[in-house]
Amino acid sequence: MTGVFDPSKVIIDDHTVPNVMKCLEEYKWRREEIEARLCLPNAIEVFSTHEAGHIIYFKLANLPAPILFGPTIEYDGKRFSHCTVGVKPPDLENNVGYFTGKFMIRLARAAVAGGVFLEALMGYSEKDNGDADDWDLFERYCKTVQRYDTTRDYNPPKRWRKARAKVKRDLDTNIITMTEIQNAKAEFRAQVFPSL
Ligand SMILES: [Zn+2]
Repeated sequence: MTGVFDPSKVIIDDHTVPNVMKCLEEYKWRREEIEARLCLPNAIEVFSTHEAGHIIYFKLANLPAPILFGPTIEYDGKRFSHCTVGVKPPDLENNVGYFTGKFMIRLARAAVAGGVFLEALMGYSEKDNGDADDWDLFERYCKTVQRYDTTRDYNPPKRWRKARAKVKRDLDTNIITMTEIQNAKAEFRAQVFPSL
């Protein structure tokens, strides 16, 4: 589906925000920001293309099926955060021993794939491909794993660049097919925006 979202049809999950806090400016601007993003032209196409990259490379990394989520505003008791759409990342803190070697190479591809898909399939630039959060998270993973495993170099920028090149190559050479991409986009839409 293309076209402009009707934000009134989209439910923003804010169940962690106490009702009394919903009148705060911080809650309001986060809500407005989500609504503005939902109203961008081709929003659903853009979101589903980006998330399809993560979905496909999560599967290739043998990670459990990713949990996809839609517009969310969270309050953890101290701070607000919000997200328009996303994929729940694997739990690093309790599984750090697993996050070494080849696994981190595959995880890097899963992290970069959202942005690379938007560049390759929709002509976005590296600057506006929506991967800032993906990078932050990947960098944090690398730093944590580096403390645990000193036998390898977990240099995040180097790993990020290599992973980007690999995902681009996979798309250029049709290792990832259009059918796979369409299926992943449909999976995202069915889970996150079933009413659209
Ligand atoms: Zn992403």
